[in-house]
Parts: sequence; structure tokens; C-alpha cells
Amino acid sequence: MDYFGRQRRLAEALRRLRADALLVTHLPNVTYLCGFTGSAGVLLLPAAERAKSIFITDGRYTQQAADEVKHARVVIAKGAAIVEACKRADRSRFATLAFESDHLSFALAKHVSSQLRGKIRLKPASGLVEELRLIKDRDELDRIRASVKLATSLFDRALKQARPGAPESAVAGDMEFEARRLGAEKMSFDTIVASGQRSALPHGRASGSPIPSSGFIIFDWGVILAGYCSDMTRTVHVGPVSTSHRSMYQAVHEAQLASIEAVRPGVEVSEVDRAGRDVLKKAGYASYFTHSTGHGVGLEIHEAPRLAQGQRQQLTPGMVVTVEPGIYVPEEGGVRIEDMVLVTETGHEILTTLSKDLITL
Ligand code: ZN
Ligand code: ZN
Repeated sequence: MDYFGRQRRLAEALRRLRADALLVTHLPNVTYLCGFTGSAGVLLLPAAERAKSIFITDGRYTQQAADEVKHARVVIAKGAAIVEACKRADRSRFATLAFESDHLSFALAKHVSSQLRGKIRLKPASGLVEELRLIKDRDELDRIRASVKLATSLFDRALKQARPGAPESAVAGDMEFEARRLGAEKMSFDTIVASGQRSALPHGRASGSPIPSSGFIIFDWGVILAGYCSDMTRTVHVGPVSTSHRSMYQAVHEAQLASIEAVRPGVEVSEVDRAGRDVLKKAGYASYFTHSTGHGVGLEIHEAPRLAQGQRQQLTPGMVVTVEPGIYVPEEGGVRIEDMVLVTETGHEILTTLSKDLITL
């Protein structure tokens, strides 16, 4: 991983912001910048060229920090890491310290401010590291592909387990056990297995309810492998498919393809949303599509950009996004289809390889 290059680009951004350093407190951002994957630690990243970053954690992570942290001096604090960071900022005579205002709680920001005793000006900075994280480099793409591949391999197993009468939670649990057996750190989020009327819940986590003998089942799942998330959804049908269920599935399938077709460099993310939404509108389902079309995926399951109405962000090569339109008809059922898509120089590449033909069980 190019930690040095990432830190250098961030330092440039800090100089443009006229800040002397950034206090990085959001752990995925800490991981992105120096490789540390533990659950407590902050990075103090100076803006000056050739100044070295300081990573501060506590005694529980002495060994892990020594093993993982790259391009930063490791300091093991006796007290809170953030207090030590303030002391170091003072010692470095920083005049302006930027902090991650999207992530630092009001209480902690007040604490930092009191530690600095007015000697250093605090500057709220939003999305600085996230801006870099938008574009995945080759190492990240390798990991994302591996994460997608592992998650993809779980679906066959899910289909074998999903039978009328089987509890949704048993099917989800089996996928999760298999994911761990294959080396995943954990799931990217609680696996969704939502069957029958429950498929009309956009975020219907697997419940103890048995799968009914007819209707849709939505599976939405993903794993974290080597730090990187995957996220995919498939909808299958149990029992004979009615005309209305077939038309629901077909509409979502066509909407999803239309949105994916719109993915290419220079296109605004709202265009990708609109392409799919137009298809659902024509099919008469617009009011049942109640969420946005997708989101970025990487170190976190939901990151920028957000593919939604009104969002002006332009797609750029190296972005990895989900495309996941869905419709949810109360007391009837729902359909969602989700792929992960990489924006390439010439258009896009669909990373999820699972078929989208309607499977009936
Ligand atoms: Zn999903
Ligand atoms: Zn998603």
C-alpha cells in the first residue's frame, strides 16, 4: 500500500487549507494513511514537506503498531492518545491544527480545545481523507476484487440452504460461517435474508421467521477481507412466479442495467440514479423505489460517492460504487439487485459476477 504517497497528497491538501497538521481520528482514515488496523489510535499528520507523521496509541497496541504502522513514528501514550497528540502538536509549534469535523464528537472536540489552551487554532476539516479514498489504487482494487470473489462464492450455499420452513437466520448464519471459514474477517454488515412479505423491508435483517412457501427472498451480504468490504444483493423467488412478481423483477433488473450503463467517467452520480429511476417510472413502480441507487465501497461499507438524486459528484476512474435499485410493495414483497461496479477509463467494469436471471427455488 502506498502510505507514503497518500500522506504526501494529504499534506498538500493541508497546505492549501493553510493548516499546519491534521489530527486524524477516524480509524478507517488512520488505516488508509498508515496501515494501523487496531481499534484505538490517532495520527498527527504535518503539512510541511519532509516532516514525519506521528502515530499515537496505547500500551495494548505496542506490538501491533510496531508491525503495521508505516511512514509514521509510533508513540505509545500513557494516557489518552488524543491528549498526547495535543502535546505533540504544541511541541511542534503548530499554529493551526485541522481536525476531522465529520468524525470528532462535540465532547471530544471541546476536550481537544481545552488541551490546546488557546495556543493552537483548531480548524474543522471535512472529508479531506475521504476525498483521497474516493479513487482506489491498484492494491486496493486487488483487495476489493478478492473480497467480492469471496462474497460471491457464498451465494450457491445460500441457495442450497434457503428452503420453505428454514429460518432466515439459519440461512444467513450459514453464509456467515462459511465466510469466516474462507478467511473473511467478518461480514461488512449483518446479512440480510428477507423472505415473503419481509422482502418489502429495504433493510430486513435476517429474522427467526421461516421462509414461506411462495414469494421473493432478498439476500444482501458482503464480507471484509484484508480490510476491504464487498456488498451485493440478489433476489430469488420461491414457488410459481405470478405475472405481477415477474414484472416487478423485470423492472428492477432493467433499471439496474440502465443505471450500470450510465456509469462512466465524467458522468454525475445523479445521472446514474436517474437512468434506473426512469425505467421504474415507466413501469409504474417509481413510488416503490424508496432509497438512493448506490454508494462507494472500500475500507468502509458506505463511503463517498453517494449515488442519489441531487448529488453533483462526477464519476472518475478508480471509483468503486454499488448500483442497487429496488422496489418494495408493502404486504406483497420486494426486489433489489446490487452489483459492485468499478469506474474505468473507458466506462465501467462490473465486479460482481453472479447471474441476474430470476432464480426460482
Ligand atoms: Zn448491499
Ligand atoms: Zn449497498
